[in-house]
Amino acid sequence: MNHIIIIGLGSAGYAALMSIRRTAPKARITVIDPKLSDLMHPCGIPYSLGGHVNVAGLEQDIFLSKMGVEKLSGEAVAIETGSRRVIMRTGDAERLVAFDVAIIATGSVPAIPAIPGLEQTLYNGLYPLATVDDLKKIQDRLDSAARGIVIGAGAIGLEAAIALRQHLKTINLLEMKPQVLPGILDPDMSVPVLQHMEFHGVVMNTGAPVDGMLAKAGFAGVTSGGTAYGADFGIIAAGFRASTGLAAGSGIAFELLGITVDEKMRTSVPGVFAAGDCIAAWSVIDGARVPVKLATCAYRQGIVAGINAAGGDVAYRGTAATFVTKVGSLEVAGTGYTTEAAKAAGFTPVEGKLRAGILPDYFPGNTEITLKVICDRGSGRFLGAQAVAEKGAAERINLVSMALECGILPADFWRVELAYCPAVSEVIDPLNKAVEYALRRIAR
Ligand SMILES: Cc1cc2nc3c(=O)[nH]c(=O)nc-3n(C[C@H](O)[C@H](O)[C@H](O)COP(=O)(O)OP(=O)(O)OC[C@H]3O[C@@H](n4cnc5c(N)ncnc54)[C@H](O)[C@@H]3O)c2cc1C
Repeated sequence: MNHIIIIGLGSAGYAALMSIRRTAPKARITVIDPKLSDLMHPCGIPYSLGGHVNVAGLEQDIFLSKMGVEKLSGEAVAIETGSRRVIMRTGDAERLVAFDVAIIATGSVPAIPAIPGLEQTLYNGLYPLATVDDLKKIQDRLDSAARGIVIGAGAIGLEAAIALRQHLKTINLLEMKPQVLPGILDPDMSVPVLQHMEFHGVVMNTGAPVDGMLAKAGFAGVTSGGTAYGADFGIIAAGFRASTGLAAGSGIAFELLGITVDEKMRTSVPGVFAAGDCIAAWSVIDGARVPVKLATCAYRQGIVAGINAAGGDVAYRGTAATFVTKVGSLEVAGTGYTTEAAKAAGFTPVEGKLRAGILPDYFPGNTEITLKVICDRGSGRFLGAQAVAEKGAAERINLVSMALECGILPADFWRVELAYCPAVSEVIDPLNKAVEYALRRIAR
């Protein structure tokens, strides 16, 4: 039986491991990973900062040896693709590990923008928020800090800023783009999110690229366009970039967004697969490369890589980039392309948008949802959807995600009867109405 080596035990590596176990129960599996715990749950980190999740729950041992899986603690530094050996390092010691099939699942690393003076403050008052170690370093600063800064208004930046607001007197969030959640929400859909952040006391500075650091030993704040923002510590949440170093040093093809793989998650080297944040992902809508780094994609890709590495034959069809974040009491969700991204991809997007109660007007405790669906005038297909609500954003976006992935057309989707009871929903759901609005505009 083949010896399969998994390099990196995160979402993709774990999904690959479980899929190999199911596909080829007798396969010999070795995992290489530097973490002390088997698994770490990054998605819970911002919520731990906010006190909703115990930090101890973010790390987990899954007793690999009981599963008959060997774990080697350390980092893979290169793959000898000809002789099929991984060169791995633990401290100063190097060793070679032979394999038949390898899966690279090394994830991504925080993107650190080239801002003068920033690098000197990194881990010296300014922290990324990617690991439990980062979280603990930030938590250590909280008792002595009154003012904080978050750089970046992506989902992690927003989640972190809301969490910090509970601990600090002032929290400034700086975002270079003119809106929050750039690239994943349309500008109009981002407005209620920004207002919600302000309602929670976060000082929002959009269109404010950080261009310098306030001079002092360690972090003292940032500057943007001549304005100084003093702070006792900061979080840098400027996105993630694929970990391609291992591929690059091993002659495995990679590109700007990550390691190049086909739909079977095969790299350019036979017998070497890759999955998760480290790959260059593509859209399920049109196959174009998309900068998507989500746990959901990593799991799906890991399953495909695992099954195929174990001798199966399945394909990954691409990602709809379906996401949800909870910011304060707001659920913010989206799938597919934004209107701008759809235009850039050559589509003619038509929007159906509304703001409506999710229950009948007469029912107590009603809350509103702002919902937009984006369809293509040319093909009549869905291109995307976005929702912002106290309740029910993700469940509606998930339906559009399914339609996108399964090729259900808006004209059919509109007719679907969704479950109704006044305590739970409306007789014609706001989602059906938004789709109907888009269809009417297409018909004009
Ligand atoms: C704070 C935060 C919040 C997030 N929230 C969400 C969310 O709400 N929803 C969502 O869908 N996604 C979220 N994400 C993104 C999600 O966590 C990632 O997309 C997902 O973890 C990617 O899985 P992966 O297996 O590719 O990489 P990872 O989970 O990062 O795992 C990579 C593993 O590879 C190991 N490794 C790296 N280099 C080497 C090497 N050379 N040799 C051996 N091992 C190596 C690492 O130690 C790590 O264990 C969040 C991410 C962060 C940081």
